[in-house]
Amino acid sequence: MGHRCFISFKTEDKLYKENIQNVLDVDMIDHSLDEAIDSNDIDYVMRKIREDYLSTSTVTIFLIGSVSNENLGAYEQRYIKRELQASLYHGVGNTQNGILGIVLPHMYTSVFLGSITCYNCGGTHQSVAINNSTTIKEFSYNYYIPNNKCSWSDDERYCILGKWDDFVLNPNYYINQAFNNRAAPIANNVVVRP
Ligand SMILES: [Zn+2]
Repeated sequence: MGHRCFISFKTEDKLYKENIQNVLDVDMIDHSLDEAIDSNDIDYVMRKIREDYLSTSTVTIFLIGSVSNENLGAYEQRYIKRELQASLYHGVGNTQNGILGIVLPHMYTSVFLGSITCYNCGGTHQSVAINNSTTIKEFSYNYYIPNNKCSWSDDERYCILGKWDDFVLNPNYYINQAFNNRAAPIANNVVVRP
């Protein structure tokens, strides 16, 4: 068994969550946020979600499908946004989770756009569209943490990203990377509510 995972997903992508649960050998907590926790005390809200839902998980797997993006609105995404915020939150008695975003197959062509020539440096970068039309801000900000450059090295990202088809071949490879980032220097640059 590897690190215990919490899975943040939209109902539309439930079959993928069940596949992780039933087919892959992933140690996971089967729980989703299903009620609004109403308080202006954000510390309380984060701690409550942590205790009641995330429990002893150390990695949050976020399933990136066609209906899990910021552009559909903060209300529509209220549960997954709170789940990621509580995952990223680092407070007293609340250990931050590693974040692993898995791009589902129907999103490959929207996210992985191929090589582009960079206008800034003239070099070639892989264009990976992690933005408001593909994910929520809690993920995209902490994937592309501002660095005043035109590209990101692995140690400049907090979130880990993988394709579903690669993830299923070796889930623990990806889960371990997300887990390890909790202790990496970049963890200090995480923003919980971007
Ligand atoms: Zn560049």
